[in-house]
Amino acid sequence: MLKADEQRIVSDLILTKEAFSIASLNFLQREQNYFDLLNCSLGVNFKKIIPVDDIYFTDKQKKSIIKYTDQEYWDFMNFVYQNKETLKSIGKHLDDFSNSIDFTNFPYLDVPRRYSEKDFIDLILSYYSTYGDKYYKIAKKYFDEKRIHIGCDRVQSFVMGYFAPIIWLHSGYIFSTITDYNGYTASSIIHELGHAIDAEMYLFPQQKKVNIYSNMFTEIPSTAFEVGFYDYLKSQHIDVIGGTVLRNNRAANIIFPFHRIREALVDEELLIYENGAAVSSNGKQYNLKKEITYGIGYDFAYHLSEIRKSNPQEFLIVLNNLMTMRKEMTFDDAIEMTGFNYEDFITGKYIKPTIKEDCLTLKKRYFG
Ligand SMILES: [Zn+2]
Repeated sequence: MLKADEQRIVSDLILTKEAFSIASLNFLQREQNYFDLLNCSLGVNFKKIIPVDDIYFTDKQKKSIIKYTDQEYWDFMNFVYQNKETLKSIGKHLDDFSNSIDFTNFPYLDVPRRYSEKDFIDLILSYYSTYGDKYYKIAKKYFDEKRIHIGCDRVQSFVMGYFAPIIWLHSGYIFSTITDYNGYTASSIIHELGHAIDAEMYLFPQQKKVNIYSNMFTEIPSTAFEVGFYDYLKSQHIDVIGGTVLRNNRAANIIFPFHRIREALVDEELLIYENGAAVSSNGKQYNLKKEITYGIGYDFAYHLSEIRKSNPQEFLIVLNNLMTMRKEMTFDDAIEMTGFNYEDFITGKYIKPTIKEDCLTLKKRYFG
């Protein structure tokens, strides 16, 4: 049950931009570990990211933030160190594959169908109902309780949507830059709802001391639901070409990030910074943490999508295991949990046919 002041904070959060930052001060006191979420939330509202070293933080808060950042940094460095060869190997196989099929990204994101507001919401809800009542109810709650805010300012060009978890409410908010109701924006809301489902079903109840934005497996559930939506658009004949364009665009989110990850990691003198950025010995810059998080997310999402096509129940079991065990498992454990043979996962054996097929379909359609 919400206390009165919590309710005030929540209404402040969503009512005005100014109140959002004031409310966030209270939010911060409860949720120091989620400081980067807070910064990002403030950033969404002020069209810029406010640096950690800001007047909003008391000395005590700063101290705890710095301590946390150190841990987060070492966790990331450790992950890179432990999994360097696996990441490079996935990158190599994807590079060879994309060269062999002459992979082309068709980012024709205005191709997916447009919908009325009602049909847009119905589409998202009927999609989530295919996973079962639990998933549908969380998605519906976010719409019913007006936890999805559309038309927010765009912070960076790649940010379409944003999930803000509020752990003491066991809920959260979705902010979207959506301006019209089409398949692409639906996929963005579905992605953020995937984070909401992950938070509500796993992170909050388990009281995991995992920062939602720093765990390397954080994008797996959101991207799994997102890629499942592209399959749904196609298999239900709702928007076959739209689904193909969107799925092809996300295949690029596996191939290109892993290309850059491999390029960065083959450099023995790569410098990795605290914020997850990296610079190679020849001066090339990488957003390494982002590349790895999203690369792993979409790689798993494509594998999970193959599982779901043949066995929807198995998909939910695998996703459940991955989410429940995420803090304890290694990258190798996570691969093993999918049920795919380790080598087959690394070489991308089971995801290549779909990527190839989408690419060929679009080449035929747009290049003749
Ligand atoms: Zn995400």
